[in-house]
Amino acid sequence: MSKKGILTVISGFAGTGKGTIIKRLISSYGSRYTLSVSATTRKPRPGEIEGKEYFFKSVEEFQEMIEKDELLEHAQYVDNFYGTPKNFIMNEMDNGKDIILEIEIQGALKVKEKYPDTVLVFVLPPSAEELRRRLVSRGTEDEATIQARLARACEESTEMEKYDYIIENGVLDESVNEIHRVIQSEHCRTFRN
Ligand code: 5GP
Repeated sequence: MSKKGILTVISGFAGTGKGTIIKRLISSYGSRYTLSVSATTRKPRPGEIEGKEYFFKSVEEFQEMIEKDELLEHAQYVDNFYGTPKNFIMNEMDNGKDIILEIEIQGALKVKEKYPDTVLVFVLPPSAEELRRRLVSRGTEDEATIQARLARACEESTEMEKYDYIIENGVLDESVNEIHRVIQSEHCRTFRN
């Protein structure tokens, strides 16, 4: 079994429940996994805590992080910048912790390019109808936004093929266990860079 931790990126369409899976993964197997906290220039939403959901930065501070090469990857999403702080996750991996990143597809592919050992996991809803039902039942989006997100999901479907694993999120506990098994199996690979 490799001593170094494994970097896993989890992505998925809005409304697939990937955030819930990750929370459950951490609460079930907490000591093995470390969740990376991203930096963002987005303003905190009510209830979001500095250092827990994100490190909230000004645009100048974020640019400085880029210039100092402190980010593993960064991307612009709508009007804000998001990026993964590098040192923290590299140290944790050296200490044998498996790292989970929850980032969108473009960032995920950049990480994979830099670190080919990265495990890319894409979380799918059981069906398009179920995705729609989940987006509607969240009650946070109007019909136009739901349509836009579903259209975006169709676009992202082509990129999904670049992922190493696809998990269909039907039953929460099963999805959590599947992702856990995927990561633990990766420790048994014969070749890692
Ligand atoms: P939100 O503003 O809703 O928290 O996040 C918006 C999008 O940014 C989500 O798709 C989320 O996965 C993505 N995201 C969060 N952190 C990072 C990051 O560090 N890098 C990249 N590339 N995307 C991120």
